[in-house]
Parts: sequence; C-alpha cells; structure tokens
Amino acid sequence: MTLRLKLIILYAALLTVIILMFGTITFAAIRSIWIESVDQTLRETVNLVINNSTSALVGDFSGPRTIQVQLPPLDTFRASGVMVQAWQTDEEEAPKFVVSSANLRDYSNPLDPNTLGASELIYSNVITSNGTELRVLTAPVSLTGRDAVFGSVQAAVSLHTVNVATSKLAVIMVVGGAIGVGISIFLGAWLSHQALEPIGAIIQAADSISTAEDLRTRLPEQRHMDELGMLTTVLNRMLKRIEDLFSVQQRFVADVSHELRTPLTVIQGNLEMIERYGLEPELMEAVKDETGRMARLVIDLLLLARADYGGMKLDLIAVDLDTILVDVYHEGHILIKNRDLSLILGSIEPARVMGNPDRLKQLVLNLVGNAIKFTPDGGTITLSLQVSRRNAYLSVCDTGVGISAEDQKHIFDRFYQTDTSRTHAKHDGSGLGLSIAQWIANAHDGKLTVKSTLGEGTTFTVILPLMQASDSDEADADKTVTHLFARPRLPLPRRRKTPEAQQE
Ligand code: ADP
Repeated sequence: MTLRLKLIILYAALLTVIILMFGTITFAAIRSIWIESVDQTLRETVNLVINNSTSALVGDFSGPRTIQVQLPPLDTFRASGVMVQAWQTDEEEAPKFVVSSANLRDYSNPLDPNTLGASELIYSNVITSNGTELRVLTAPVSLTGRDAVFGSVQAAVSLHTVNVATSKLAVIMVVGGAIGVGISIFLGAWLSHQALEPIGAIIQAADSISTAEDLRTRLPEQRHMDELGMLTTVLNRMLKRIEDLFSVQQRFVADVSHELRTPLTVIQGNLEMIERYGLEPELMEAVKDETGRMARLVIDLLLLARADYGGMKLDLIAVDLDTILVDVYHEGHILIKNRDLSLILGSIEPARVMGNPDRLKQLVLNLVGNAIKFTPDGGTITLSLQVSRRNAYLSVCDTGVGISAEDQKHIFDRFYQTDTSRTHAKHDGSGLGLSIAQWIANAHDGKLTVKSTLGEGTTFTVILPLMQASDSDEADADKTVTHLFARPRLPLPRRRKTPEAQQE
C-alpha cells in the first residue's frame, strides 16, 4: 500500500469518525431541545388546567366517592394542539373518565394508562393505535389541603412534527456528512498528490541513477527549501561524496598501476639480466633502487588516498616549528653529504603551532629534498622561520633551476613533474611530494606557496597559524598526549656560513 493511499484512508477514517460524533451529538442536542419545549408546553397546560379547575369530592364518608373536575373551556387548547383528559383514580376501582378537551371528544381511553394515578409529574412517550407518537404528561390531582391523590390530569402533544423534523435533520446530516467526507477525501487525495509528487520525482531520479550507474547525475533541485527541498540537497550532497570517493578510488587504482608499472618493468628487466648473465653488482643496485622507489611510492600513495577518503585524523599537539626546522637541517646535511651544496639556517624566530610533528617534519623534508634535487652543485639552500602576529612563515629557499610560471600552476598536482625534473639526472621522484606537502599544510589550516624564477631559484613558504592562548588551554587539558609527542627543544645552531663566507 502506498504512503499516499495510507494517508487518504487514515484521513477519511478520522474525518468520518469526527463527523459521526459531531452529528450524533448535534442531533441528540437538537431533539432534546425540541422535546424540552414540548414538555414545557405540557407543563404549562397541566398547570393551567389544574389552577383553573375546581375539584370536589362528592359522597359520604362511607359511600362511594366521586371527583368532579370543572375544566376551563378545553377548546382553549385546540390551537396549541394539546389534548387534555381528567381521570378519577381509586386504588380499588378502575380509573373513571371525567372529562376531556374538545379535540379528544371521540376518544375515551386514557392517553397513557400506565401512569394514571401517579403521585408525581410523569412524562412518557406513547404510541397510539393509529401509530402516532404522543408525548404525555400525567399530573396528580388532589383536594386542596389533602395529600391523597384522587385523580390525574393527562396532557399530550403529538410528536409527529418533532419526529418529521428530526428525521429530516438526520437525513440532512447524513447526506451533508457523506458529501463532506467525499469532498475531503478528494481534497486530501489532491493535496497528498501535490505534497508527494516531488518524492515520486526523487524516487524516479534515484532509480535512474542506480540503474544507469552514473554517479554524476543529480536529483532535480526543489524550488522550495521545505523538508523535500532539504532531502534533495542532502541526497545530492551524499551522491557528490560517493562520486568523489568513487573517483578517488578509481584514480588511486589508476595511479598505482601506472606508477608501479615502470619500476616493475625495470626490476623485471634487471632480474632477467641477472638470470642470463649472473649476479652483477650494478644490476642488483638497480633492483634495490627501484624496489626502494616503489616502496616510497606506495607509502605516498596510501597517505594521499587516506587523506582523500577523509579517514586520516591528525593528532595535534603544541609543536615548536624551530625545533622541527633544526631537525630537518641536521638530516639535510646527511642528504647533501656527497654534494657540493650549502644548507644554511637563515633568520629563525621561535614559533609554536598546533600541529602533528611527524607530518610537519615530513612537509619540510619534502621541500628540502626537492631543493637538494633541483639545485645544482655550488648552490645554497636556506631555511628560515619568521613570525607575524598570527602566523609562522617557514621557508625553504634555493638557488636552483627554478620553476616556470606555467609549471608553478601545476606542481601541486599529483604526479606532475616539470620537464627539467624529468631530464634531471639523479631525479627519482614521482611527482607526489608537493601534493603531500600541500595536503599537510592545509590539514593544519595553513597553506603552501611558491615563488620561483627560472634559472635563479625557488622559495617555498609554509604559512601556519600560530598557537593561540585558547589552543594552549586545550593542549594543557590533554597533557598525556602532549608529553607523548612533545620533543625537547634543541639548541639552535648558529647560523652556518656559506663556504665562500667561511673563506672570507
Ligand atoms: P617530485 O619531486 O617527486 O618529482 P614533487 O611533487 O615534489 O615531485 O614536485 C613536483 C615537481 O615540481 C618536481 O618534479 C619539480 O619539477 C618541481 N619542483 C619541486 N620543487 C622544486 C624546486 N625546489 N626547484 C625546482 N623545481 C621544483
């Protein structure tokens, strides 16, 4: 059963119950008001009769007694349609008819035989032999000053008019109610159709997306930002996320297969050579190099893939950037061991940021590694750290080959390598280093910028927000983590002079 049908049935059922309840209460109230007005007329008539008649007991104490009731001219009641009878009652004898109004001249039976002789006012409904329903009021008649009842006055009114009116009212209510329910069901169906139509469109669109397996398709945006508009937006956002994750996965697989093909081919070729000519140290060296390159590549790719999936959470603690810079400075000297390069520290200011020390070090090492790779012998690489009121500026400046303005637009793209780097003799990069460096900077709410002039050199600057007082409160609250990762501050080495400066 569709939601729409359920809504209509529920709506119709509720409305029918409400109309039935309301109709029954209204019907009963109106009928009782009419009956009450009839009763009022009967009461007034009976009072009039009793007040305007004289009654007397005739006979001796020992002999039979008779009541004599002198009714006022009973035709007075003809106009009002009230019929009146007076009866003498006695416990031992059958009731005796005394007198009746002119409109009952041919009728000598009691109006209601059951209530004759009652000692109090009694209202009753009686059906006559010709099927007419009468409302009868029986009132006791007693001698003035005595309690004993010796007669009854009965007044009656036909309920024909009331019954006709109430049955007409019932018909009107049933027909009106049915028409009302019908109109409401029609309106409800129309309204629910209007309200649920966009859901139908959403279902159709979602179905076509799943059958076409085209994750680029989006649900048609709704004109109004009501619940359905919000649902559409949320579903579209979800589709975008799924599409992104899917394309990341596809790109990852494509990247991995593409990038691993070259080293695997080289390894395979070298192994075949070893098989054919025996173990040569150069061949073994080449296999080792390619295996190492492949291992680095896989690590980089995994890191980027995890970052893309959003599943990589960085534990942030208070980090002294100057300490990291000095660490990298020391490691950099190992890297330039066989090169004629100067790695020096420029102006260094203490800077503390909220960050992940391992990732930040990886970032700076990537930049320094590139600077070493792309700076010809005799060049200089300068590491510096400056602070402004809000940010720390960590730069790696080299006097290397430089990057053209066109290449600068793409160097942060994955696997992008400039022609210079491709032709560079000792270059073993994969074009992922800067993508990773940029991701790390962004993950720290910072950014990585480049300034370069072809043939003159390049400066990469990492801009990171300095740690604020509020950050330090948070870091203090989690001292275990802070202690676990915090490193002792190394003494800053004195600014190292370039070989030329040293000669001077
Ligand atoms: P990889 O170094 O592994 O090739 P990167 O993503 O680190 O990949 O760098 C992308 C490209 O940017 C490099 O191939 C190189 O062409 C260029 N590049 C990066 N750093 C420098 C630099 N300091 N000097 C000149 N070119 C650079």
